[in-house]
Amino acid sequence: MSELTLQDWQQQAATLTIEGRAFINGRYVHAISGDTRPTYNPATGEKLADVANCDTADADKAIAIARQTFESGIWADMSPAERKMVLVRWAELIEANADELALLECLDVGKPIADTTGVDVPSAARTIRWTGEAIDKVYEEISATPKGTLSLITRLPLGVVAAIVPWNFPLSTTAWKIAPSLATGNSVIVKPASNTPLTAIRIAQLATEAGLPDGALQILPGPGGKLGAYIATHMDIDGLTFTGSTPVGKQLMEYSGQSNLKRTFLELGGKSPNIVFADADLDKAASMAATAVFYNGGQTCTAGTRLLVEESIHDEFIEKVIQHARDWMPGNPLDPNTTMGPMVDQGQYNTVAEYVQIGLNEGCKLEFGGKAIEVTPGGYYHEPTIFTGVNNQHRIAQEEIFGPVMSVIKFRTAEEAVEIANDSIFGLAGAVWSNNINTAIKVAEQVQVGTMGINNYFGGDITVPFGGFKQSGNGRDKSIHAFDDYTELKTTWIEFE
Ligand code: NAD
Repeated sequence: MSELTLQDWQQQAATLTIEGRAFINGRYVHAISGDTRPTYNPATGEKLADVANCDTADADKAIAIARQTFESGIWADMSPAERKMVLVRWAELIEANADELALLECLDVGKPIADTTGVDVPSAARTIRWTGEAIDKVYEEISATPKGTLSLITRLPLGVVAAIVPWNFPLSTTAWKIAPSLATGNSVIVKPASNTPLTAIRIAQLATEAGLPDGALQILPGPGGKLGAYIATHMDIDGLTFTGSTPVGKQLMEYSGQSNLKRTFLELGGKSPNIVFADADLDKAASMAATAVFYNGGQTCTAGTRLLVEESIHDEFIEKVIQHARDWMPGNPLDPNTTMGPMVDQGQYNTVAEYVQIGLNEGCKLEFGGKAIEVTPGGYYHEPTIFTGVNNQHRIAQEEIFGPVMSVIKFRTAEEAVEIANDSIFGLAGAVWSNNINTAIKVAEQVQVGTMGINNYFGGDITVPFGGFKQSGNGRDKSIHAFDDYTELKTTWIEFE
């Protein structure tokens, strides 16, 4: 955790040099067209930098270089132990430049500096180091075959992998994608979210400094609808890894079918249930219920936006949650005491405000928040917001808002809680709070999600897989299981006398 003050960060921000060019073949380059598009600071609405606005011609160039690099074997054929050392050095360089990266992420996304220094940057470094260190410890397989035969089951890199990533955790989701795809020997193209490209652009240079061969990693900033779609339909991309919204994820599956059936793995949206029973530690559960929704301004795919509360404790528990919601009033992201910053842009702010109105129109009771708030002039700040009296069929219980809006739903029995929890198109995450081990484990087992907490929310680290059931996606980021998304299994059957 950094010791710097608001004034220190403001000073650093005033003198920060921001790189906005694309990164292709080991160096920064302008878009072929020369086009740029601005990226803005969500805390002020002011322009931060002009960023290369890459197009199809840049994509063709980057993909051709990635292909040549893959086929040259300079990276793919390097021993796993050597690839490991490059990734470990890269993680060290990210740590050595932690303040700069944390500041860039704070300015570009509006995330509190305490989060970018304490979570985003350390988590990216840990992902890259852990994954690098794992790659020379993964063994391949031999199956049980008859005498006179030997089977080898080996993993081969896909070739050229594209990663399309969102704006809510730009650095850490980029790390989740590029660490395992590079570790397994692929060449990689990253398309950052068009409004938050800065940290991906910066860490590419650090990868080169760490010894990653030119052409193994390219960063192409540009619009999703045009550049992203072009990459996703490209015949020379072998694998596509995506984190973003469910509608775009569905589109990418179609693109795969329309083009070359590129392996397509998706981490998508959520509407996660956080289930609190009367016998839980209510103080801890209330504190985490607020954190589960308001952390990162609710712009978190796993946010526990549906708070399911046992009827007998509902009023008492909501009182406690409201007390904790006060700790999440928005502040200047550069202030180390800030817990919640602005929404990422005007569009996201508008979405939140529209859903607050929808909640009111649906007859839900606004218990806390619900309005814009001015912190720094020009910023897109919204109060933490709590609705009670929500029915699971309401739109604010079914649709992903991606903002600091909690929908509280009552339940009477464990069966009813599970039924409500599973009545969603999503299945990303959830949690159950109970001091009865039988209730906790039974409910956790029955809720259809990729990550379930018992008496915690947001639990997990790089050692465990992360991904969704149902329309929250397929494939898994993190852990050794992430290697499955970036490799093909190959069988070699040998007969001998
Ligand atoms: P988004 O789907 O709008 O955009 C994600 C990325 O896809 C961006 O880089 C965007 O430029 C690109 N894109 C947009 N349209 C495209 C198209 N037609 N073809 C190709 N690429 C295209 O999502 P967002 O608004 O950036 O992020 C928020 C969403 O991401 C939420 O739904 C959230 O739940 C989800 N998310 C999921 C996870 C997870 O791991 N499951 C993590 C973080 C965010």
